[in-house]
Amino acid sequence: MTKAVITGVAGFLGSNLALKLLTEGYEVIGVDNISTGRISNIDKLNPFPQFQFIKADITQQSILDNEKMVKIDEVYHLASPASPKWYQASPFNTISVNTVGTMHMLELTKKHGAKMLYSSTSEIYGDPEIHPQSENYKGNVNTWGPRACYDESKRLGEVYCYLYHSLYDTRVTVARIFNTYSSGLWQEDGRVISNFVTQALKGEDLTVYGKGSQTRTFCYIEDTITAFRKMMASERSNGEIFNIGHPKEYTILEVAKLVKKLTNTTSNIVYKELPEDDPKVRCPDISKAISVLGWKPRIELQEGLTRMIEEYKNQI
Ligand code: UDP
Repeated sequence: MTKAVITGVAGFLGSNLALKLLTEGYEVIGVDNISTGRISNIDKLNPFPQFQFIKADITQQSILDNEKMVKIDEVYHLASPASPKWYQASPFNTISVNTVGTMHMLELTKKHGAKMLYSSTSEIYGDPEIHPQSENYKGNVNTWGPRACYDESKRLGEVYCYLYHSLYDTRVTVARIFNTYSSGLWQEDGRVISNFVTQALKGEDLTVYGKGSQTRTFCYIEDTITAFRKMMASERSNGEIFNIGHPKEYTILEVAKLVKKLTNTTSNIVYKELPEDDPKVRCPDISKAISVLGWKPRIELQEGLTRMIEEYKNQI
């Protein structure tokens, strides 16, 4: 039986990945300190006898010696606040988990001869001057602003991965994850899709920041999880970085209008101040993932949103 460690198991990505692996018979050790993750996400994992949960902070070295950490094959390091609302609320913890936490997970991976997937982010491209962004674009990131704690610590996390891979031959693969969504997003998450769908279903105004001309792309969770699995399974992914996201670009105003249409809401669109350093465009070049992993997303925004709206209706 393959044994995987998932950090951030109570989070959006972690809980969905854990469910998938457990369903396929994996043994899963889930780690979370329940800071931005939710214990209710773990409730759906607890019925699996091959699931074990460790409530711990991976920035503490003691995680390496935890008695459950034996015979590990795969490490998915997904822990970190990811929504601007939450990483800006705890900037120092965000920096620690992406740097010291990443080093600890690399140490664990090295000790067990395992392979690690590191969840990096499209944010490492900052406010990009090259469009779309391919993996060899170095980025345009501000060290002196509210997003820096996330962007720069994720970048340093990649440096740790590079060093362990090049100095110790540790097997590691890096996913630069672009905006991902599904009904698994907490309604209080603060990111655009969960905000718009929640607002539309409650009949509240949809809050577009700035003029809504900034762009993003949106990948449905199932496609993202498939990408992680392929990255872990592929020999050719070792020591490589992949953009993981949907390549179809939308303005935020287009997204607001689409959510309005799909929910048939009476809500209005209102305009709020654009947050500082909000990237103007963002779109992945996924040709590397297509050629090396044979992966590309299958679920279009309209379909994913339709599924999400139905599931959110039951939650609200
Ligand atoms: N945004 C918005 N209204 C919201 C939340 C976000 O217009 O209620 C915008 C935000 O300014 C950004 C884009 O939507 O331009 C995506 O924001 P999100 O927080 O989802 O993630 P980001 O890609 O900025 O990390």
